[in-house]
Order: sequence, then C-alpha cells, then structure tokens
Amino acid sequence: MRKLIIAGNWKMHKTVAEAVSFVQELKQKDLGNGVEVVVCPTFTALAPVAEALKGSNIALGAQNMHWEAQGAFTGEIAPAMLQELGVKYVILGHSERRQYFGETDQNVNQKVKAALEVGLVPIVCVGETLEQREAGSTEQIVTQQTTGALAGLRPEQVAGLVIAYEPIWAIGTGQTASDEDAQQVNQIIRQVIDGQFGGAAAEAVRIQYGGSVKPGNARGLMAQPDIDGGLVGGASLKVEDFAGIIKNC
Ligand code: PGA
Repeated sequence: MRKLIIAGNWKMHKTVAEAVSFVQELKQKDLGNGVEVVVCPTFTALAPVAEALKGSNIALGAQNMHWEAQGAFTGEIAPAMLQELGVKYVILGHSERRQYFGETDQNVNQKVKAALEVGLVPIVCVGETLEQREAGSTEQIVTQQTTGALAGLRPEQVAGLVIAYEPIWAIGTGQTASDEDAQQVNQIIRQVIDGQFGGAAAEAVRIQYGGSVKPGNARGLMAQPDIDGGLVGGASLKVEDFAGIIKNC
C-alpha cells in the first residue's frame, strides 16, 4: 500500500515570520491519520521552518534547486545546501518553472539525478496545457515529460519518487480536474513507468494530483486508485484549508 502524501507548495508566499507561525499552528492540529504531510516554503524560510518543525511528523520540502553541486551560478541553490537544512523533498519541473524560467525535460532529468545523489526525494511535476488537452495530446505530453524526467534512472530509484500530475489549466484556476480525469492520467503515468521500469517501480511510485485541490474535493480525488496524494498551492496557504485537505483524505 502506498502512503498518501500531501505537500503544500507555498510558491512565492510567506515571509519567515508568516511561515514559522503557520507551522506552529499546523503542529497543533491533529493530522494523525497516516497521511504524510510536507510543507515547501521559499528558500529563505527553509532553515527557520526546519527548526519549527522539530518534534513533529511534518516533513520539509523545497520548491526548486540547481543540478550542479556548486559553482558560478549566481542566484542558484545546490542540492547539498538543501539537504544540509533537513530538507527531505524537492519539487522539480513545476509548470511555473517550465513556463517562466525555461526549464526543459532535460533540466528536470539533471535535477532529479542530482537530488537523488544527495538523498533528496524529488516531487516531479508533469501536466498538459488546456490547448494540449483540447488537441487530445494529454497522454503524449505526460508520457514525454515522465520519460524525459526519469531517463537513466534505476527502477529502485523510480520506486522512491513522487510524481505530481498537475494539469496546467487546473493550477490556481479553481477548475479542478474531475476525479475520473485525474485518475485516468495518473493511471497512464503509472503504466508508462511500468513499461520502462517494471511492475515493482510502478506499484511503489507515488503519483499525486495537483491543481485546485481543496478540502471539498480532496476526498473524491484521494479515493482514486492511482492518486496517492496531492500537491496543493493556494489551499496550502491557510492552516484551516490545508489541515482540512489532510483530514479529508
Ligand atoms: P493550486 O496550485 O493548488 O493553487 O492550483 C497547485 C500547484 O501549482 O502546485
């Protein structure tokens, strides 16, 4: 059985003070229903949030990183710098990174390998635009992104990953994919992994859904056989909403 994983992607929100007060409040909530909970603050808030999370079961994630171990890359953060802070997960290839910062499948693949090298668990994001969905190319797009991101990995590495299917038209729009549509694409992703890395990796890999997940739609989504959690943006910014999603899993 795969353990559900709910990760809050705070994007470029919350100062250090806001981030710390959020986790202090979240820690007071009863989240004990066997769901793995992750918060992903901005880089500047990682260390103070790591400190504030001590003694809780809530894990820490980052939103991006560079693939090189170090070097002349002004403004970038290396994998080991995250690992040193107690970061466990790192979101890679989010559609906003692909869209606004030109990240390619090849970059994502480099980052996935670099993350694994230092023991970080990648949350690899894939998903189609509205145009691509309407053109009937969803399957082709997610297959290409998944294949590209995971190229050259060993099956046991793939088994430990998290993949987030995030249709771009559902992100921040309030237009959640239906339970059936989300399940269908998550199943396709699992089949792609089965074909390339074998049944054991496909069975073990956790595949989240992301895109306007809220307390009110979490239950239906998380009940789908191939949906193993959620990557939550907007609704992860308020403790009530985020805790509500976790409770409704
Ligand atoms: P959303 O964002 O929940 O606000 O749609 C999800 C994401 O971008 O990870």
